Order: sequence, then structure tokens, then C-alpha cells
Amino acid sequence: MNTLLSKAKFVILISTLLTSFDADCKWIKHSFEVMGTQSNIEFEVSKLKDGSNSLQQVINEMHRIDALMSPFKPASELSKLNRLASTHPVHISKELFELLVKSEEFSKLTKGAFDISFSSVGYLYDYRNSVKPTEKQIENLKKNINYQSIHLNKENQTIKFVQPLVKIDLGGIAKGYAVDQCIQILKKNGIVNAYVSAGGDSRIIGKKDDRLWYIGIKHPRNKNKLLVNLPLEEVSISTSGDYERFFVRDGIRYHHIIDPKTGDSARELQSVTILAPTSTTADALSTSVFVLGLDKGLSLINNLSDISAILVDSQGQLHYSDDIDRLK
Ligand code: ADP
Ligand code: MG
Repeated sequence: MNTLLSKAKFVILISTLLTSFDADCKWIKHSFEVMGTQSNIEFEVSKLKDGSNSLQQVINEMHRIDALMSPFKPASELSKLNRLASTHPVHISKELFELLVKSEEFSKLTKGAFDISFSSVGYLYDYRNSVKPTEKQIENLKKNINYQSIHLNKENQTIKFVQPLVKIDLGGIAKGYAVDQCIQILKKNGIVNAYVSAGGDSRIIGKKDDRLWYIGIKHPRNKNKLLVNLPLEEVSISTSGDYERFFVRDGIRYHHIIDPKTGDSARELQSVTILAPTSTTADALSTSVFVLGLDKGLSLINNLSDISAILVDSQGQLHYSDDIDRLK
């Protein structure tokens, strides 16, 4: 396990700080299933409070966002868009509209590597049951993958798809957004030390018993091993990997991160971890850099301030953004 990583922007320190245990406080911990993955919550409250109200608010918030943005729930606003926005402009909530605006910004920033309309082909993959679209289906539907076909009308808060068979999916950004929302709730409730995760997206505030938080990055080819264990403070961390949802057919790995240019899984990397100030950004960029691959991905991150990356290439080799490399 490599613990020799450090990084200036987020004050990653390699140290074993001694704990001064606060006897007046206690930790609330809870794990639950939401958005097709596991969410873990940890936060510190005074012993005089029970913390259950804050915990319930966080759980409710995760489920609320899932109900709004899930492509699998027919009643979600997102499903409504997928059903109707090819025929006429559809009015949606300010919240979903704003996340679609954000998604478009990431599409522009990554020159289309991040593209929520990947789902126009992507919806035909079923990783659990080893199902993939045929070459012909991909060829026919690929032209619907193009974020520029999603027209956002800011004045009317409506969405219109200008291709007939566009489908969108916020799986590359919604969990990060949900984590940010939950951290805001905890902060509003006066909580200063907390960890919130949803699948591969985590955000930490404050400390863990006066120490830095340690966040592990999974080894992409060995479930029981950590690749690195990072001491962190006040940061969001998101990992996108080809090992979470995948199947192998004829020696080829089909997994859930789709290159919008091909409608097929992106295969230059095994895993991408992004450190960023917010979870929404870390989530969108981990998916994007995975699609962009080693050179283009690192060059994007090296041109962004406040963002760092740890990549694992197809040979299992680690690569770091310049700010981390300088400090190693
Ligand atoms: P997870 O935390 O679910 O593993 P990631 O952040 O690694 O998610 O992103 C993968 C998810 O992003 C996929 O399940 C899919 O919903 C969505 N996605 C896949 N390819 C793209 C893409 N090119 N642009 C935007 N979103 C994508
Ligand atoms: Mg992501």
C-alpha cells in the first residue's frame, strides 16, 4: 500500500498525529442503499444531542435526489424528459435544470468526453446480465450521443432534444451532487466534522478525532487491496473504475463508462481518482478523465487549478497530476 502521497492544494500530510479525544462528542455512523449503491455517513455531534435528526435529513435528501433523477424510476423528472423531450420542450424543476446546465459545462470543458446523452446507446447495456447492444444498434443510435442535441432554454426552464432518439442519464454526476447537498445540510446543522459518500464519491469536512481523514482508493484488479490510502482534509474525492459494473466477453471488458465517440466502453485506463473542492466536480471529472485517457486526461487536469488526479493505466501503472508528482 502506497501511503507516500502528498499534495499541497489540499494539505495532504504524511503524519501520524496523536489524537486528543473529545469526551463531550460522539460519532454517528450509518450505511444505507441508495442510487443503486451504498452510501456511508459519519459525523460528530455533541453527546447532549442525538444526531438522529441530521442523519434522517441526509437519508431523505439522498432518496429525494434519487427519486428526481433516476433513469430507472418512471416517475422521475429525468424519465419524463427521456419520454417527452424529443417531441416538445419539457418544463422541469430549477434543481434538475441547474444540474443539466452544469453537465453541459462539463461537456464543453472536456470537449464532449462527458456527455449525459451517452445513454442514447448506453441504456442498451445491462452489465449484471452481460447484455450489450449489437454493432448495428450502436451504428444506428450513435448520432443521438451529442450534448449539443440537448437544448436548454434558460428563460422558460425547458429542455428539448433535437434528435429523435436521445436518452440522458446523470449517473456520472448525480451522486457527487447528492454528496454536496448532504454536506450542506450537515454544515447548516452546525456539524463541522463529517464524511459523506455515495458509491465512489466522497466528501470530507473537518477532522476525524483531531486527525486527518484517511480515504482509500481501491485496487482496480484486487478487491481486497487498497491502491493508496490518502490522508485528506476539506476535499471531495471521486473514483471511476472499470471494475464496478462490468462483464467480460471474448476477452473484452464491457463496463459502465462509455466513450461518446464510439458508444463502447472506454478502455485506456483502469481507474481515475479526482480530488476537487466539490463532489459534483470530482464526480463529473473522474468520469470525463476516464474517457479522455492518460495523456488528454492528465493534460486537462494539469490545466485546472484546485483539481488533482491519480490514474491507473491499462497495465496497472500509476500516474499523477503534476501537483502531486512534484510533492511525491
Ligand atoms: P459510479 O460512481 O456509478 O461508478 P462514475 O462516476 O464512475 O460512476 O461514472 C459512471 C457512470 O456515469 C455510468 O454508470 C453512467 O451512468 C455515466 N456515464 C458513463 N459514460 C459517461 C459519459 N461519457 N459521460 C457522462 N456520463 C457517463
Ligand atoms: Mg463520475
